[in-house]
Amino acid sequence: MSYDRPRLLAIDPWDCGCTECLTGEYKPLRMASASDIAALLCGELAGNTSATFQVEIRYEVRPDSDGPLSKAAPTAATVSCDDRTWTLDRYAARAVLGSL
Ligand SMILES: [Zn+2]
Repeated sequence: MSYDRPRLLAIDPWDCGCTECLTGEYKPLRMASASDIAALLCGELAGNTSATFQVEIRYEVRPDSDGPLSKAAPTAATVSCDDRTWTLDRYAARAVLGSL
């Protein structure tokens, strides 16, 4: 008998242990991966955390090839919340920035 894990729908508070977190529809923030956080910031996952996230977008600008900062694409992002930091790669950083 196979069991299909339900699709993740939301990120819940840090230590949540509700029924949905146990079945996999929601995930407690302490278990969230970098891609979960990117999906949360893009609005693809609902946010039930009531947490405040600090988001830092990093750019790399080589004047000879990238030109002004306004034309540069982000190369990474860090997302912090309390004592936890997630590092987003360039693709996730661009997705997050594109959703602003
Ligand atoms: Zn929960």
